Amino acid sequence: MGGFSFEKLGQDGKARTGVIHTPKGDIRTPAFMPVGTAATVKAMMPESVAATGAEILLGNTYHLMLRPTAERINNLGGLHKFMNWSKPILTDSGGFQVMSLAGLRKLTEEGVTFQSHIDGSKHHLTPERSMEIQRLLGSDIVMCFDECPALPADRDRIAESMRLSMRWAQRSRDAFGDRLGYALFGIQQGGLEQDFREESAEALKSIGFDGYAIGGLAVGEGQDAMFGCLDFAPDQLPEDKPRYLMGVGKPDDIVGAVKRGVDMMDCVLPSRSGRTGQVFTRRGVINIKNARHADDPRPLDEHCTCPACRNYSRAYLHHVFRSNEMIAGMLLTWHNLHYFQEIMQGMRDAIAAGTFDAWEADFHAMRAQGDIDPI
Ligand SMILES: [Zn+2]
Repeated sequence: MGGFSFEKLGQDGKARTGVIHTPKGDIRTPAFMPVGTAATVKAMMPESVAATGAEILLGNTYHLMLRPTAERINNLGGLHKFMNWSKPILTDSGGFQVMSLAGLRKLTEEGVTFQSHIDGSKHHLTPERSMEIQRLLGSDIVMCFDECPALPADRDRIAESMRLSMRWAQRSRDAFGDRLGYALFGIQQGGLEQDFREESAEALKSIGFDGYAIGGLAVGEGQDAMFGCLDFAPDQLPEDKPRYLMGVGKPDDIVGAVKRGVDMMDCVLPSRSGRTGQVFTRRGVINIKNARHADDPRPLDEHCTCPACRNYSRAYLHHVFRSNEMIAGMLLTWHNLHYFQEIMQGMRDAIAAGTFDAWEADFHAMRAQGDIDPI
């Protein structure tokens, strides 16, 4: 079994393109990771997710530890086998979702005690336990256990939380140990504060990780504030390791992040939106529920090669969505994931060719046109 490595192949401005090599396959960057929360990307077969171009999935420690439990998945051969996905999997640490989903949380230096949102049962999560769960799942890219305050928060709270996360990063590193072919990523915190982000980056670099995530963004601060932070945060992280922006985002967030030097992203947006009738296209967002689509024989996007666009009309998608048919969520999710992967491929090609600025201008110009006129 080979190791885990990052190979940078090109750069245009701050935007980078490369390949993350793992024993379970290569991941071309910049990469978008669909989210498979409960060991499934909702409404998609794993082979369909792969057909959209996805080369890595994200799994959620918090959800899987509660149901069906990491021990059960381990006994059944690990998460890859359990969910029939043989390519790489990245798992989050559970920390963020404990903070956003669980009830009755108690945070101490040791870790977090919380109540399951499913049945109210009590659980304890520490850096050591998070590393154990992610090992039991068989995750290829393991994330450090961290804590992040909701923004806005005052500077003292942000600093205190970031320093706790850095102590937990060391404990995560110690507990992870040395595992050939598996990677551990550190997570930079520090809110929107440049000095705290710098302190956090230095702490992580002195511990040493296989990749570095930018955490604590996309938590309601807005795109301007997020881009303001991304103007310096990626530069504070090592040049020769992958940089992962957690929980981002909308298509224009993704493009702006890549422009600022981010290599990996994940978001529930394309899959969740598919189930609520929101469709992302080159010409912006379509709401398939709208009556204007009821008689429209045209595809969502005539240039898209996904099954939803090749084989079905807006009128059909409107009908099955309004009729609450499962195929609506399936087709719209497929289209959205396909579109997100198409953006990533477009950026990879443009960065390699040194034409990122022109690609970005075209991306924004197409969106500014808005959806095609109603028939
Ligand atoms: Zn499509």
